[in-house]
This record gives sequence, C-alpha cells and structure tokens, in this order.
Amino acid sequence: ALDTPIHDAVLGQATERFGDTVALIDGTNGMSVTYAQLDTFHRRIAAHLAEAGLRKGDVLALHSPNTIAYPAVFYGATRAGAAVTTVHPLATAEEFAKQLTDSAARWIVTVSLFLDTARQAAELAGGVERIFVCDQAEGHTSVLDMLGSTAPEPRITFDPAEDVAALPYSSGTTGTPKGVMLTHRSIGTNLEQLRPFIPLEPGDTILAVLPFFHIYGLTALMNVPLRCGATVVVLPRFDLDQFLGAVQEHRVSGLYVAPPIVLALAKHPAVGAYDLSSLRYVVSAAAPLDADLAAACSARLGLPPVRQAYGMTELSPGTHVVPLDAENPPPGAVGKLLPGTEMRIVSLTDPGTDLGTGADGEILIRGPQVMKGYLGRPDATAAMIDPDGWLHTGDVGRVDEDGWLYVVDRVKELIKYKGYQVAPADLEALLLTHDAIADAAVIGVRDDDGNEVPKAYVVRRQDTEDLTADAVMAYVAERAAPYKKVRQVEFIDSVPRAVSGKILRRALRDREKQS
Ligand code: ATP
Ligand code: MG
Repeated sequence: ALDTPIHDAVLGQATERFGDTVALIDGTNGMSVTYAQLDTFHRRIAAHLAEAGLRKGDVLALHSPNTIAYPAVFYGATRAGAAVTTVHPLATAEEFAKQLTDSAARWIVTVSLFLDTARQAAELAGGVERIFVCDQAEGHTSVLDMLGSTAPEPRITFDPAEDVAALPYSSGTTGTPKGVMLTHRSIGTNLEQLRPFIPLEPGDTILAVLPFFHIYGLTALMNVPLRCGATVVVLPRFDLDQFLGAVQEHRVSGLYVAPPIVLALAKHPAVGAYDLSSLRYVVSAAAPLDADLAAACSARLGLPPVRQAYGMTELSPGTHVVPLDAENPPPGAVGKLLPGTEMRIVSLTDPGTDLGTGADGEILIRGPQVMKGYLGRPDATAAMIDPDGWLHTGDVGRVDEDGWLYVVDRVKELIKYKGYQVAPADLEALLLTHDAIADAAVIGVRDDDGNEVPKAYVVRRQDTEDLTADAVMAYVAERAAPYKKVRQVEFIDSVPRAVSGKILRRALRDREKQS
C-alpha cells in the first residue's frame, strides 16, 4: 500500500474480491451500493471530473453530510488527481469561504440541501470553477449524471509520498482550523498499520454516524471498512433512536463512536427498547473517555470493554489503538503504539527531557503517518514538527510498563492552580458520575485574587432543577484531591461541542470574557 494511491489502496480489490457484496446502505431509506458499483461509479466520476477540466493537484471541496455517494465522490476525485478538502456540511457561507480561499479550491461537490451556502461561499471566495451536486439541483451537474459519463478514465501518474490526497481542516478546538496535507502514502500507510487491529471482513456491518468529513469518520467508517469488504450503513446525523434502530435492523457488528455517544449508550433509557444483540464491540476515539463511563456502557450492552483509539488529523490519523482481541485492556488506556511508529513522552517543564513510564508529559510522535505539513503555513508546521521529524501533539499523556498509553488532556487546557496541574477532563469525568448531571465542561478562570481556578459548566438533568452550585462543589470536594476542587459553577443548557464530541472550551472562555 505504500506506493498505491488511496483509491486503489481502498478499492483495488473491490470488484474482484467483493463484487456483489453490499458496500454501502443508506440507513434512512435502504438504498444500497455494491462493491462492483462503487468501483465503477468512482471511475465514472473521475472521468467526468477530468473531462470538466479538473487537473492533477486541483483542490476539490466535498461539502456533504454522510451519504452513500460520499465515498464514490471522494475516491473519484482522488483518482482524477484532486486533493479533497472535506467541509463541515453545516459550515456557514463565511466559514466555507475561508476554507475555499485558504485551500484555493477550484471545485465543489455539495448536496441540494446546502447548495445555497455553497453558492454564497463560492461567490465570497472566488476562484471556484464549478459546483456539482450529489443529488439533484437545477443548473448543476449531478453525481448521478456523472455515472453516465462516457469520457475516458484519466491516467494520472501519482507520487504517493508527495501528492496530497486529503486536505481535512483540523477541528479548530484550540484555534483557527488549519488545512492538513495528508498524502496518499501517509493515509495508505496508516491504513496498513491499523489493519491487524481492526479485523473487518465481508459480512461485518458497521454504522457510519460520525461524519466522513472528519478524519476519524473518514478513516474508521469509510477507508478501513471499504478496504476490508465490510458493509457500511450510512446515517447523515446522530439521532439516538434512528441510530439504535439501524443497529437492530442491519444487525450492526461494531460501533465506532465518540464519547457523547458512549454517554448516550450508557445512560439513555431508549437503549433498552432495541435488540442490540448483533453488536460485538464499541470503539471510542477523538476525545477523552472516562473509564467509569466506558464500563457503564459495556456493562449495559453486555459487551467487552469499550476499546479506545487515539490520533489526530495531523497523524493521518492513528497512532494508538486498543486491539479488539486484547483480553483485559486496562481501564482508561487509549491503546498501544501502532507498528512502525515511535513515541516519546517529554517533560512539560523541561521539553528536552524524556520521561520514563508512569510520568505525565507531552506526547511526541514520529512515523510515516505524520502529515506533510499545514497548507501554506510553514511557521505552524515548523512549530508542530521539529527538525528530527517528531510531531508535538500538544497532548499530555503517560505510558505504563506494559506500553499502554493514557491521555490526560491537552497541554494548553491544563489548569495551573497554585503550582499544581489540574486536567479539566478529569473533573468533567467526575462530574458526569453525578446522577443529576447530564453533561459538564471545565475550564480555568481567574478568581478575585488572580489565581487560575477550575470552573464547571454544568447541564442539569431535566428532572433535577434543584441541584445547587454548592452541592456540585461539595460532590467534587469529597472525591478529588483538594487542589482539584471546583471553585466556581455555572448552570447552562448545553455544553458546546464539535461534531467529533470535543468540548469547545474556547467557546466557554469567550462566554467567560463577555460576562
Ligand atoms: P485543532 O487542532 O484545530 O485545535 P483538534 O485538535 O480538536 O483541533 P483533531 O485532529 O480532530 O482536532 O483532534 C485531535 C485531538 O483529539 C488530539 O490531539 C487529542 O487531544 C484528542 N483525542 C483524540 N483521541 C483521543 C482519545 N482517545 N482520548 C483523548 N483525547 C483524544
Ligand atoms: Mg489539534
């Protein structure tokens, strides 16, 4: 796979080995696509795009919720030589325009539902040649039309180590989203590294509810399963009943989710109403998952412990997974290092110093899955990847003697309380164990004396309006070391989150500044 472009790495055996196996099912209406069709469709789309004028190296913006057409468009575009920049389907015209400008995108593929936004964005950004739609809209060529294309298939020569296949934007949790250049090789190698740990095969069915536009969904729900001949049931958004209904109806075997879905599976009453007996495992990644919550989820579903994985957009994206066949992975571990990858844990106060097992420090990664760089931001790239090729993740973690990695939180999010380091993720997990708390987020704020102290934003369960701030603080004080005490509490209606489940602490800090 090292020197195979991504569309061939994933679909190279699609027709020959998996032919009539169903590749994708639309979970909302039951429409499906076989592997042989997916193979043909993406080649037709490539042919049409090339005929329309798309040239190798062009950027194509894919602006769509999860649909069964998404993979065909993605691989069709890469086969035509494009770098695909995946766009949040609910981005505003301004946000979308920024991404178009930043990536110098020339082509857009959208859906009729969001066509107005795409048009506005294209107008704001300039430089967009054509807008295609996946479904149908007057005046726009649709992907369905492309399937009838008789144009010759483009024959592009790829340099997998240099050519960018995907240009996802980082989630923007910590700052402005940056375009992450992932080459055919970095993505393909990571698929190869992940392969032994995700043993999917024809007959396995997985549920794609996390968005394909984010690197986690793109990898775990699209590239990996399609490469293995599994069946992917596609849902455009997370709705618990629809999600559980799809597991029951399609006899889904494995779930790849983020912590908010684990929370729903552990706590929501609706879970009991469905037949989930086909499930064999649950994998969670993208944000910190509390060990107690993970245990509650697997106990409720009668499954082995929830498996975690760890990675980031800049790492194509995986570095650690808990192998599905690990008998008793320790609670809270995000996984073991993938083959062909190196890791260091370095001191937060003395960054040159490597730390031994058991000590918290910054996680550094070196390996073939490290991104080529941030698009057009050599300074940001240099700040992230040092001259020896080590990528500084900005995450705090530690390794135990058996090589299991634990992620504590992000370096920048740690609250410095009188010389102690407090991880907001720790306190959030503790708060969630309270029966009356539906959701919680913690940030550091300045108190009247200018000290940084933990402040909790708490969402009460609907039936528990009488939960007081004092009760919340007392609950934490009884269970955490004194320096970790929550010293301020504010009740809110919902915790701001990115689609991947990450808490947008930045939004809370803005709120704090305004008050
Ligand atoms: P930005 O870089 O734009 O601020 P982001 O870092 O949230 O956004 P992503 O690349 O989507 O963008 O997320 C990677 C981050 O997600 C990691 O650096 C880490 O903080 C977090 N993460 C991923 N997996 C896990 C996990 N299993 N446990 C804890 N945190 C995780
Ligand atoms: Mg990041």
